[in-house]
Amino acid sequence: MNRTGINQGTAGNISVRWKSGLLITPSGVPYEEMTVDDVVFMDMDGGYQHRLAASSEWRFHRDILLARGDVNAVVHAHPVYATAFAICGMEIPAVHYMIAAAGGPVIRCARYATYGTEELSKAVLEALSGRTCALLANHGMVATGPDLREAMWLAVELETLCKQYALALQIGTPRVLEAEEIDKDG
Ligand code: 13P
Ligand code: ZN
Repeated sequence: MNRTGINQGTAGNISVRWKSGLLITPSGVPYEEMTVDDVVFMDMDGGYQHRLAASSEWRFHRDILLARGDVNAVVHAHPVYATAFAICGMEIPAVHYMIAAAGGPVIRCARYATYGTEELSKAVLEALSGRTCALLANHGMVATGPDLREAMWLAVELETLCKQYALALQIGTPRVLEAEEIDKDG
């Protein structure tokens, strides 16, 4: 997470579907210090037995994995550009064909709710409807995938798109692509 530049410090968290539950990063442990033994196995009821506390965002990780059969990995981070748009409550329109990786012509911004809450989980699930990623108002972003590699790839792509859009907004007036252009296979 830190090496790709999408995160810093102890912000963000990652989960992967595993057996009848999920593997999730512990709360507040710096990534460079985290070891395999620190990763928490949690059941789908949120129960676990571990010396460390599971990520405070376990609810939306668990709820996404429960609701979305197509998703096996969830990445949450606070990348600078994606979070800047999220702070402004802005959506990301189809300003580049790479938005197709998000599953639709607009990347939504989930309404604000306190971190770790069921309310935030509901808002995130709504914003992710028919999508693979979303911004979280005044907080950060979530990217999902059929496996961890793809979810991490998408997280970096989303941040790149946000960076491009932010720069384009400073240079001039970004042109938004037609929805049918995004649907083309290329
Ligand atoms: P955790 O360290 O508890 O996973 O929380 C980080 C975070 O990004 C909360 O939104
Ligand atoms: Zn967060």
